[in-house]
Amino acid sequence: PYTGPSAEEILAKRKEYLSPSLFHLFSKPLNVVDGKMQYLFDENGRRYLDGFGGIATVCCGHCHPDVVDAIVKQINLIQHSTVLYLNHAIADFAEALASKMPGNLKVVFFTNSGTEANELAMMIARLYTGCQDIISLRNAYHGNAAATMGATAQSVWKFNVIQSGVHHALNPDPYRGVFGSDGEKYAKDVQDIIDFGTAGHVAGFISEAIQGVGGMIELAPGYLPAAYGSVKKAGGLCISDEVQAGFGRTGNHFWGFETQGVVPDIVTMAKGIGNGIPLGAVVTTPEIAEVLTRRSYFNTFGGNPLCTAAGLAVLKVIEKDNLQENALVVGSYLKRRLTELKGKYEIIGDVRGKGLMLGVELVTDRQQKTPAKAETLHVMEQMKELGVLIGKGGFYGNVFRITPPLCFTKKDADFLVDAMDYAISKM
Ligand code: PMP
Repeated sequence: PYTGPSAEEILAKRKEYLSPSLFHLFSKPLNVVDGKMQYLFDENGRRYLDGFGGIATVCCGHCHPDVVDAIVKQINLIQHSTVLYLNHAIADFAEALASKMPGNLKVVFFTNSGTEANELAMMIARLYTGCQDIISLRNAYHGNAAATMGATAQSVWKFNVIQSGVHHALNPDPYRGVFGSDGEKYAKDVQDIIDFGTAGHVAGFISEAIQGVGGMIELAPGYLPAAYGSVKKAGGLCISDEVQAGFGRTGNHFWGFETQGVVPDIVTMAKGIGNGIPLGAVVTTPEIAEVLTRRSYFNTFGGNPLCTAAGLAVLKVIEKDNLQENALVVGSYLKRRLTELKGKYEIIGDVRGKGLMLGVELVTDRQQKTPAKAETLHVMEQMKELGVLIGKGGFYGNVFRITPPLCFTKKDADFLVDAMDYAISKM
């Protein structure tokens, strides 16, 4: 049993020694001491079903034995910087990752986070095209360093960042957007930005296929093909941020961009790629990758032996445990059950998402779509008391984010929906 400090003691230390910006879920935050697959355990040994771990990093399941094994084996052999010497781990993982990519996307740069991956992707686009202008979507989250905070388009995640060279296009949000599910109409705004906001040439365009932090918003169908068309005509590179939607999570496809039938010029990823180990990557074509030879470029720990050994193990587990197929089967079932719940409760305004990347938006008025922020928090807290963890997001903080480890079962889905049903019924 756990003998470490209590939740209260940890909170007190955090208060004194950690940044005041550090936030946590729940008014009485969980002290997580142990994790196994789709379960987390608190200091008293109480088990929680983890419906949100996917976002936090875990795609195979907490402490998946194969991934732990690979990490322990590697750390006992050697852990070092990526630069200076050879090691097979980085090369093996890059090869495996490239094999999951369409077209000529086969050159990999490793980073330590999603922010770094998107920073690098945007820099590459700017170098390759000789342009500065980047278009991103309103409501997007792409990271918290200079360029990525500029591309991020939600005031809550932005400080006084210099916004130069970034344009934010109309978000193709089927639920709240002005054009409903007509992706091509929203994409016209990308063309307008190019025509009226730039010299006619752009460095690139960056977006997720399903906005995670933004509240599990699936870009309206037809949006990416049309937007990519405009960007390519203006000489720009298209970047797909797969930090949340990648690695089989959407079920039908391995990558989020595939749900819209496009092939990007640059793909970025992080989070689930290392099953909890800090690891990010940028994948592009040999021709585009060439721009980084104009100067010296390196990242001390990006792609180090430990992290890439973990990454390779994750890819193998996704195949061995059939996780993409599971995301499709269990995700479709879970979405169907959540949609039934929408039939039962007025407060559920929308159920959306693909595979095991699902969102449930709460509104106090279905016509006005008034965000039910307080109710969202309340239900989340109640579900935690019932032993089920989910997240929240969206600009108004009124969207449940359901992104469990991909080993989630139908039974888990039932438990999650039953807990949500009960919590809403008691409100
Ligand atoms: N892109 C997306 C889509 C994200 O959700 C996040 C993190 N929430 C990032 C980039 C940034 O990743 P990191 O926190 O690892 O820097």
